[in-house]
Amino acid sequence: PMLRQYLKIKEEYPDCILFYRMGDFYEMFFEDAQIASPVLGIALTTRDKNKENPVPMCGLPYHAADTYLEKLLSNGFKVAICEQVEDPSKAVGIVKREVVRVVTPGLMNDISSIEANENNYIAAFVYDDGRWGASFLDFSTGEFRTTELDDITEVIDEVSKHSPREVVMPESLESSTSSELLRIALSDILISYIDSGVFSAESASKTIAKTYDLASIEGLGIGDAPLSLSATGGLLRYVTDYQKGDATHLSFPRIYIPSEFMLVDEITKRNLELMKTLYEGTKSGSLLSLLDNTVTSMGGRLLRGWINYPLTDVNEIQIRLNAVEGFYNVRGESLNITELLSQILDLERIVGKVSLKSAGARDLVALSTSLKLIPTLNKLLDKFDIMAIDTIREGFADFTELCKKIDLTLVQSPPHSLREGGFIMDGVDEDLDELRGISREGKDWILKIEEREKKRSGIPKLKVRFNRVFGYYIEVSKIHADKVPDDYIRKQTLVSAERYITPELKEYEAKVLGADERINALEYDIFVDLREYVRGWIKDIKKTAISIAKVDVFTNFALRAMDLNFVKPEVDESLITDIKDGRHPMVEKALPKGTFVANDIFINANKQQLLIITGPNMAGKSTIIRQVAIIVLMAQIGSFVPASSARIGVVDRVFTRVGASDSIVRGQSTFMVEMVETANILNNATGRSLVILDEIGRGTSTFDGLSIAWAVAEYIHDTSTLKPRTLFATHYHELTELAIVKERVKNYYISAKEWNGRMIFSRTIKEGVSSRSYGINVARLAGLPSGVIERAKKILENIERGEFTARGIPAIIAGDDIEGGGDSQMDLFSGAAKELLIEVANLDTQAMTPLDALNKLDDIVGMLKKIKN
Ligand code: ADP
Ligand code: MG
Repeated sequence: PMLRQYLKIKEEYPDCILFYRMGDFYEMFFEDAQIASPVLGIALTTRDKNKENPVPMCGLPYHAADTYLEKLLSNGFKVAICEQVEDPSKAVGIVKREVVRVVTPGLMNDISSIEANENNYIAAFVYDDGRWGASFLDFSTGEFRTTELDDITEVIDEVSKHSPREVVMPESLESSTSSELLRIALSDILISYIDSGVFSAESASKTIAKTYDLASIEGLGIGDAPLSLSATGGLLRYVTDYQKGDATHLSFPRIYIPSEFMLVDEITKRNLELMKTLYEGTKSGSLLSLLDNTVTSMGGRLLRGWINYPLTDVNEIQIRLNAVEGFYNVRGESLNITELLSQILDLERIVGKVSLKSAGARDLVALSTSLKLIPTLNKLLDKFDIMAIDTIREGFADFTELCKKIDLTLVQSPPHSLREGGFIMDGVDEDLDELRGISREGKDWILKIEEREKKRSGIPKLKVRFNRVFGYYIEVSKIHADKVPDDYIRKQTLVSAERYITPELKEYEAKVLGADERINALEYDIFVDLREYVRGWIKDIKKTAISIAKVDVFTNFALRAMDLNFVKPEVDESLITDIKDGRHPMVEKALPKGTFVANDIFINANKQQLLIITGPNMAGKSTIIRQVAIIVLMAQIGSFVPASSARIGVVDRVFTRVGASDSIVRGQSTFMVEMVETANILNNATGRSLVILDEIGRGTSTFDGLSIAWAVAEYIHDTSTLKPRTLFATHYHELTELAIVKERVKNYYISAKEWNGRMIFSRTIKEGVSSRSYGINVARLAGLPSGVIERAKKILENIERGEFTARGIPAIIAGDDIEGGGDSQMDLFSGAAKELLIEVANLDTQAMTPLDALNKLDDIVGMLKKIKN
């Protein structure tokens, strides 16, 4: 019969592992047991071993359930928790059981594996007629946002920004072609396909109204966004079906429009190493880790959100920058604020637990301790007369009453568990105090019994003890067993002792235990009332939490700016990007202090729109073009920037593309990918965009690649609607010729010198064209065998003077090498002539006066004549 009950419940939760409560254990049966036991590392046994087909089972103690739960969730399982819902001692037949909640990877809220400063999103997507609706909920904090998108790539960008742990979609998308790309993007993530009906407008509206206890959803503004409505309703339905408790902590879904923020697509985010590094994939080394010294979890999460969604509205950016400026230069005061903030715990998550009834006494004490710091924080902020900070302070509510109530109810450091009492203070409840009196007296009496019995029996080491199996007892060591009084009743014999009870002992025991049991129950009830009371404050606490997060991020930006030598950028509506002494903050950090060379970059969409940057390998091309993008992005999230000054004409989207051979990391081969990405830029960049191209065209053969690079550059320059500010780093020297024919193309180069057979990098960008690629020299520096280097040099020489066979293969490679043939042309390019050529190649013509040049030419002609003779 028990198994019948089990199977019936399991039927309702076929895609979950069922934790079936039996006494002090959660048991799993059948397939669940077979799946879970290896994941959890617990033994698989069987029930009714003697039967023919024994049922596989495994179990775990309920008080240790959290750790096991976490393991299953992080392996992508859902767990349905089925409890006994009636007192087993009063049950007739099988104890009634019910699933009280379902925990899933996206619906955890008090589990330690969630990084405190990361969000844990569950997402829902719907599709209709070419458009998408997407909703993201962080169940642990209640943050809820939704949007509508026109294109699957935008959907995937939003996925990458939120990194959801779990996704819900209507059944209709399970195998439809429209969702194919999305399903690939989500391939590591748990997806639940649910009844498409719950996503219908009607059903969605109903779910939303019910969840938030609203008569109508009109006020939410979501009614005009049918796809957002549908995704939000479906998601809430999934959430509320699984979390039987209520969800007062959920914020109203907020509609956001990605295009109102700077668009940073997934590839760009990766190339710029905003959240993690390209090669190691670690957070350390990324922009996020460089900028993030926040001290609260709320601030940490907000900062992440800001990096994912830089602003495009100049006024809003200004407000943030001004707020940072307010804290900048007042180090002492900023540090005081940070010090105070660091004592504030994660209010958003605590409030989430309160709403889900999983908050314990420690959570409420932490809540009170944290909220009591608000007045001090408010006072510290008094000194700052800045608009953004005034708005922040408006978010702080008065929590005096709430804190008082918590402090007067709960002891200062309560036990972890709510089961055994000990967390409600004396004086809170008369009945509780009385019961505690009884319990204490009883325990005193029992102690007195020990003294009395010692005297009466003459056994010096007689002890009164307690255990869970038979309550209070008297223990006497074996050697004194003969002195034991007649009225003792023997209960247990141990190796060296005997245990007895007496009627008197049992009488007090009943009093004490009865009282204790009632105490525990009463304390629990008082606590639940208190938690309900706290629930009424959730809105205020959430507002306060947002304000705290902002103060945290602003002071953090100010302190980072002081420590890393950043300045306040000037942000305006122009199409100019003018950076003086700019630095790449992460590269600078990785290098020895003071060795990074700062550079100026000036771009103006109307005059010098497209900068072609050449220079030998390792010169710093990739670094400088990325640093421009990073500085622009930092300015638009409201941070100061690594430069001596910066004027940033707001950018609507940043594109960064890296030639295929530079990004082997992605493990896809893939000139194709490179071209797809480039096409995406050409189709989506606007006159406000910033485009960063690094060695585009590299993934294919030289002539092909060059042609494509050339055509891309031309297109960016010529297409009238599209004049994005562009930086193009390239090893195709030929591209520099674009500047001759295209008015807004400018050439820049980063020079390097060969000195004593070594490359000396200046790291300084200059206007003009660099001399030939130094690839071979770099190869030598890297330690390639000298034979290889010499051979490479010969091949290069040969190619450069255009010696090809009839089939177009460089002559030297085809074996038609004419070396040593005594040909006069050969003579011309060897020995002294070669030396001369190298000298010419190394001339810094930009730095020469016309007279110098003329003199040099005279020298060269003289030397050539000498060689010829
Ligand atoms: P390229 O793209 O021209 O081959 P990178 O931009 O990859 O060169 O730079 C190569 C290395 O040179 C970087 O990893 C960094 O260590 C160093 N570097 C680049 N720019 C600078 C700079 N401005 N100051 C100091 N070191 C730099
Ligand atoms: Mg490079």
